[in-house]
Amino acid sequence: MKNEIHKYLVQHEDIYGTDLYIENIHLKDVFSNQNKKKLNDYFNAIKDCLECSLGHTRTNFVFGIGNPESDIVFIGEAPGKQEDLEGTPFVGKSGKLLDKILAAIGLKRNDIYILNIVKCRPPNNRNPLNEEIEKCAKYLKNQLEIIKPKLIVSLGRVASKTLLKSEESLSNMRKKIHKYSGIDLIVTYHPAALLRDPNLKKDAWEDFKVIRNGYING
Ligand code: URA
Repeated sequence: MKNEIHKYLVQHEDIYGTDLYIENIHLKDVFSNQNKKKLNDYFNAIKDCLECSLGHTRTNFVFGIGNPESDIVFIGEAPGKQEDLEGTPFVGKSGKLLDKILAAIGLKRNDIYILNIVKCRPPNNRNPLNEEIEKCAKYLKNQLEIIKPKLIVSLGRVASKTLLKSEESLSNMRKKIHKYSGIDLIVTYHPAALLRDPNLKKDAWEDFKVIRNGYING
């Protein structure tokens, strides 16, 4: 019976969207709790991963954070020192800048979901190795299958070249709407690059205006 109800609700959502009210139950909340539970179960299943050497040097497995029901997912590279200590992506200097940029387009952290390509900190903040990226790819893929966003924002060259399987420069990847597994994907600068070279902020703002104008309701 439970399965029947679930099937009915999924069909209803496909046809009419999530605005169904049954005796004060908002379907959106039902689905939102489902994604939250699925992500939480998935976190528990993978958090002790030791498939590459980063598992032996990390403090925390940095799974991801935000709204499990969000239409927009931001994807960074790998946790830095602070992220490794706290177990949360983008809590250091780059994260503070990302929060400011999000605020400028009317978004709070809890309006989006934030993930990294690689879940454990590479020592001394080196770039993740191909082998580490490949081992971690299934985690990202499964997280995106649970969240089902409408837009992926790829932050920086490592995330973008991994997601698009491309060796193009970041500038060539920007200013286009790509597709990742059928999901729109926009490439922009990593906040760390904007901290290193504030001249890039003007271009990054153009990317964020595309996000604001095309993907944020209201
Ligand atoms: N840089 C990233 O790419 N991800 C983080 O979580 C922090 C810094």
